[in-house]
Amino acid sequence: MREIRLPLSRRRLLAVGATALLGLACPPGRAVARTVQVPQPEGEVNAGPDVMALTFDDGPSPQYTPKVLDVLREHGVKATFFVCGDNIGQYPDVIRRMAAEGHVIGNHTWSHPNLNELSADDIRDQIQRTQDAVTKACGRTPVLFRAPYGNFSDTTLAVCADLGLRPISWSVDPEDWANPGTETIIDRVLAGAATGAIVLEHDGTEGGDDDPAPGSGGDRSQTVAALSSYLPKLLADGYTFTTPDAHPPFPPKQFHRNG
Ligand SMILES: [Zn+2]
Repeated sequence: MREIRLPLSRRRLLAVGATALLGLACPPGRAVARTVQVPQPEGEVNAGPDVMALTFDDGPSPQYTPKVLDVLREHGVKATFFVCGDNIGQYPDVIRRMAAEGHVIGNHTWSHPNLNELSADDIRDQIQRTQDAVTKACGRTPVLFRAPYGNFSDTTLAVCADLGLRPISWSVDPEDWANPGTETIIDRVLAGAATGAIVLEHDGTEGGDDDPAPGSGGDRSQTVAALSSYLPKLLADGYTFTTPDAHPPFPPKQFHRNG
């Protein structure tokens, strides 16, 4: 049976009720279902009053990621980019720019599958290959992970814990991927702005059977235009921005709630 070993800092974060039944992998008759508690997805940042986090998924995109980076640089804001490994080989310069400008690069699997449909070994392969690709491209190894579609199964969470990755979710979803209109994205982000909020947006495309290949298509111009508008507004309102890796998670079942 595989033992999940967590660093001391993680042990304090063990969420009650967050379990993975690893005994299922043992041969019949010898299996002893053992409950191992693993960290749960973090939907908010524990960074103090009026601090939020911006996250961008599915890149890098040669067309839109540089525009997102331009807006962030203009306002001196750092964000987290959850990248797909199979985009990195095509666009290593974009990854290197993210790193050089102080942004955090998170792991968003290799090819953006629904991890709930994969075996533990395949999940591990999706994540580890991406770890290796990011490290090779820019010399940094991700410490944050976001599952495609937010599908964090117990198996995926157990693999994350084993690889030393913190699972990151979100609290504000403007559904920019659906191109609802720039003003709608702006309104949704501003409505969700709050202490601890993690905003989910997309600088790339997901790929898969129903989507263009990652990096090859998809229109993210609304995402860029919305960012250009709401970011200065939020800064003027007194918000600052951080990345989840810079702060400890909230204690289990004590996530900050606004209102
Ligand atoms: Zn995604």
